[in-house]
Amino acid sequence: MSTNCIFCKIVSGEIPSQKVYSDEWVTAFRDIHPVAPTHILIVPNKHIASVNEIEPDDETRMGHMLTVARKLAEEENIYQTGYRLIVNSGPHAGQEVFHLHMHLLGGQKMRYPMG
Ligand code: AMP
Ligand code: ZN
Repeated sequence: MSTNCIFCKIVSGEIPSQKVYSDEWVTAFRDIHPVAPTHILIVPNKHIASVNEIEPDDETRMGHMLTVARKLAEEENIYQTGYRLIVNSGPHAGQEVFHLHMHLLGGQKMRYPMG
């Protein structure tokens, strides 16, 4: 746990959130400013600041985030219509919270182009 990290505090329950899933590896909760009908953030329970800080030991954890994304897409009924998974890393990507997170977006047609 990183002491000043908002997502670490959400994982521990110190800050309230609309949690939709948690297990020993990851926690998922609704984004406070949703940009689509479904907008969920999936985070590792371990503090990893960004993709740059991922280590070989984290591979199982990272893969598990995708398995959870798939399961939540099914629960949110966006499994068939489709959804977008985004991991912003660093300033050019607009990363605001430096605790790695995957956005799960769906429920509407996503806009293109990206970038
Ligand atoms: P990013 O730009 O990828 O770092 O996205 C950070 C996301 O975290 C944004 O979509 C914010 O709306 C979201 N966010 C920030 N604080 C909270 C919070 N306390 N609870 C839920 N989502 C949050
Ligand atoms: Zn953290």
